Amino acid sequence: MTATTSTLGELDRRYVFHPFTAAGAHERDGGPAMIVSGSGSTLTAADGTTYLDAMAGLWCVNVGYGRREIADALQSQALRLPYYHGFSSMATDQPALLAERIIRLTGDLGMSKVFFGSSGSDANDTQLKLVWHYNNLLGRREKKKVIARSRGYHGVTIASASLTGLPAMHAQFDLPLPMIRHVSPPYALWEKQPGEDDAAFVARLADELEQRILAEGPETVAAFIAEPVQAAGGVIPPPDGYFPAIQAVLRKYDVLLIADEVVSGFGRLGAWFGSHLLGIEPDLMTIAKGVTSAYVPLSGCVVSDRVWEVLARDGGAFQHGYTYSAHPLAAAAALANLDLVEHGGLIEQAARRGERLRAELHAAFDGHELVGEIRGIGLVAALEFVAERGERPVRFDPALAVGARITRACLEHGLITRALPAADTISFSPPFTITEAEIDTIVTVAREAVDQVA
Ligand code: PLP
Repeated sequence: MTATTSTLGELDRRYVFHPFTAAGAHERDGGPAMIVSGSGSTLTAADGTTYLDAMAGLWCVNVGYGRREIADALQSQALRLPYYHGFSSMATDQPALLAERIIRLTGDLGMSKVFFGSSGSDANDTQLKLVWHYNNLLGRREKKKVIARSRGYHGVTIASASLTGLPAMHAQFDLPLPMIRHVSPPYALWEKQPGEDDAAFVARLADELEQRILAEGPETVAAFIAEPVQAAGGVIPPPDGYFPAIQAVLRKYDVLLIADEVVSGFGRLGAWFGSHLLGIEPDLMTIAKGVTSAYVPLSGCVVSDRVWEVLARDGGAFQHGYTYSAHPLAAAAALANLDLVEHGGLIEQAARRGERLRAELHAAFDGHELVGEIRGIGLVAALEFVAERGERPVRFDPALAVGARITRACLEHGLITRALPAADTISFSPPFTITEAEIDTIVTVAREAVDQVA
């Protein structure tokens, strides 16, 4: 076992170019944990170490690891028809069934079609093309700018990284693209002014958006993109009334709303979609992650009736599509995954487990000298660490990398959490199948890790 483990580590070090990983990091720190199996919320590494995965991978393995139903669906689809495309005159059956299912699950949001891709990033790229094509069809060739929010995360392709509001993801690549703008996020801890209540905060954010649209020229602004709850940016649920206020501004200037439901879709917030929970009426929705619980890659752009009506008007083709658009294997996995979520009562379970997680986090961390805020909604939560608490909290010096150190301490105790260094948060987004006992373990270990670093 030891020889095998070190051989695997050596192969990884020599040949794998890891995403978001400093060159040489693994030489210095002895290499990554080599995960070889998973069951429920537990991962096992090649050396036998086990980890409790409080992040469901990257906010995505919603039904937990090792679900035979999805493996069986993959196997039978692979034997029957592993691949065929859906370009022009061809189609396969699983994507048709899946698209109908997705539209049904969006309920009264007024959605009509699904364009499939493979990742959240490629889907957000496609969204920009859809928005631009839509305005070209309407003869509004100037209306092309897209407004996103600081701290938003929308992916890593050239367009979706531009939408992402994290400067670290722009610096190496001369991004964002020139037609992308960013406005403030609804990040109460740092953005709310002293004495400002939620209503005044929301009104100020809506006004900032309106002023930005006016400054750019409404005839140049095509769309606004937002995650219902900013996830990777630090788990930032919006204050009450935020989306209705933002939407009123967008409607006034005929600006489309893209709801990036890559994390929030399919139950993560305790409802099928964040749009349902937060009163969002999207023109376009981006989905990925939870649609297959990441057993295989699949994403989609869900297009509303009103956008489709324009796209379909001239009868021409949308000159865009991926080899893996509407991949039958991915669609079969998605259908099996959605059966588990829908018929297994997993959305209600996610809501209940989320309540427990928040209650336990409050019990363990309320009043803790390092903890400036405990945030959460549905089954996502975060702790934000501050150098000083109080009405005007003070951030830690980023060089101290407090969030990253706490995440590392958690990992040493067998718990996987996730830090966003620029925000000093650690986040939690476990599988919906996490048990109550596992939630208790998450919070106990997190408390030990925080105290260790304090
Ligand atoms: N949008 C959101 C809200 C995300 O959280 C992510 C990934 O975390 C993406 C888009 C990009 O998805 P992918 O990593 O599949 O390209």
